[in-house]
Amino acid sequence: MTGSNQQGNLQDHSDLSHGVCLGFDTRAIHHAFDPAAFSRAVQPPVFLTSTYGFESVAANDAAASHGGRLYAREYNPTTEILEQRLANLEGAEAGLVVTTGMAAFGTLILSLLSQGDELVVHNTLYSNTVAMVEQGLPRFGIKVVPVDLSEPSNLDAAITDKTKLVYFETPVNPLSTILDIAAIAERAHGLNVKVAVDSTFASPALQRPIEHGADIVLHSLTKYINGHGDTLGGALLGDAETLHMLRETGLRYITGATLSPHSAFLILRGLKTLSLRMERHSASALAIARMLEAHPAVAWVSYPFLESRSIARKQMTQGSGMLAFGLHSGFEGARTMLDRLQLVTRAVSLGDTDSLIYHPASILRARQSIRKDAHLIEGVGEDLVRLSVGLEDVSDLIADLRQALQVL
Ligand SMILES: *Cc1c(COP(=O)(O)O)cnc(C)c1O
Repeated sequence: MTGSNQQGNLQDHSDLSHGVCLGFDTRAIHHAFDPAAFSRAVQPPVFLTSTYGFESVAANDAAASHGGRLYAREYNPTTEILEQRLANLEGAEAGLVVTTGMAAFGTLILSLLSQGDELVVHNTLYSNTVAMVEQGLPRFGIKVVPVDLSEPSNLDAAITDKTKLVYFETPVNPLSTILDIAAIAERAHGLNVKVAVDSTFASPALQRPIEHGADIVLHSLTKYINGHGDTLGGALLGDAETLHMLRETGLRYITGATLSPHSAFLILRGLKTLSLRMERHSASALAIARMLEAHPAVAWVSYPFLESRSIARKQMTQGSGMLAFGLHSGFEGARTMLDRLQLVTRAVSLGDTDSLIYHPASILRARQSIRKDAHLIEGVGEDLVRLSVGLEDVSDLIADLRQALQVL
């Protein structure tokens, strides 16, 4: 359906703007929702329908021949508001939302790449994206080439005439290291290859990869964009032609991973407070990163806005709420510390109101009993602890972390 971005009753609020470009927060609250089209409801209604009726067979024919609104796998009014709003906030022409971040990755790769094609990725990625590129894609004859993109010139040797896409995260999960979007995009484009960036750790409130040259942006909406830990979701944002293809093939018949309209509603609600939340996540995470850096039990801390990280400051407005650190007491120290925490929750996931902490090497050890080939991701040590700093009072979080570190 072309045009899910140009259709009918959802206006872009240019009538509110008096001809000037509205700010990020105003757009996060109003963009692509016209109350007049929905009985003047102030909040977008949730449309629970699986299909759409037609006045006539001819109207049905017309819709089918234009990729129109036939069925709820590819079209829902609530979901369309979310797609248009996210696209607008990222500076993209069009958007597509799906059930999870992993569904977004699957939809992207299985739509754009075919047997014999090659995918270049950064050597550290979210753990399930690693599973997909190591175990999933080779089964379909797609070759994955992992490289260290912290040195963008490594692309020159990695890209061949079969390369269809360069894919990376920044900040990188779970290291919270930064890759230079503009430098990577420039090299990849010089070799005629498109670039997709997983911007989940930053959200569009802090970083908009398309402004730095990326072609496609991926989000796990489960994290900061929804922000409340109560639904899963994923999104792809980019040019209208690619997004049309991702909807028409990737979503319609490859993954069928349609987001529920109720989840779209929740994510629209979370999105309204995104930049307020990101400010607090960022300020608290920076304070915690500084506390940890000065703590005698802590061996290292990685946080984008600790001094000296100049690439982060070039492409992000703040450092977000994710940090990684290791203790001098290593693997065992991390386990002891996690067990002593009383306020911070031991859980995977991130970007919630609640602070969440996770020790990848412990989860790995447990998983190895059911999957012998499970291994730590490149660059992730046995000591690494990942902390998603929530919206609690930072003094309470610091007190909890300090008391947990005391014995170490
Ligand atoms: C969580 C996460 C994903 C996967 O998203 P889900 O919504 O959990 O499927 C992808 N990329 C990054 C960076 C993530 O943190």
